[in-house]
Amino acid sequence: MPLYQTASEEETIALGEQIAARLPRRAVVLLIGNLGAGKTTLAKGIVKGLGAAEPDEVSSPTFTLIHEYGSPTRVYHVDLYRLEKAREVEALGLDEIFERDAVVLIEWGERFPELLPPDRIEIHLAAEGDDQRTITVSGC
Ligand code: ADP
Ligand code: MG
Repeated sequence: MPLYQTASEEETIALGEQIAARLPRRAVVLLIGNLGAGKTTLAKGIVKGLGAAEPDEVSSPTFTLIHEYGSPTRVYHVDLYRLEKAREVEALGLDEIFERDAVVLIEWGERFPELLPPDRIEIHLAAEGDDQRTITVSGC
């Protein structure tokens, strides 16, 4: 299982670009880690690497729940942090999104494993101090 260490936001964005290069055209990617671990930062790099938007155009979907990037859409960026019940998640229509030729990045998705496809990529992020992050990738 590939394990990476980054020492700045910029390095995490660069790692996201590298990860993007090995993703299949259609993928569900869980970004797993505490608040501030760098999930949204890594998403910026993945979105950039897929050529869908620049990092500063990518913002956290915590309140908006789903953002789309690219035209046609290449990346969906989802944040389930504020949702508590499975039926709230079901109402988002993720099943339909999973059918599309797109990469779906999901923060806090591990809280609803039964609503996710079994063949998903999981990326774990952990803060090891102010700027140090350990990032492990499984499934691709
Ligand atoms: P999350 O989505 O997991 O809550 P964010 O990506 O929104 O986290 O925030 C990560 C925060 O940590 C940002 O303020 C970022 O500047 C800071 N940071 C410091 N070092 C790193 C690093 N190596 N990788 C990613 N973010 C870092
Ligand atoms: Mg976030």
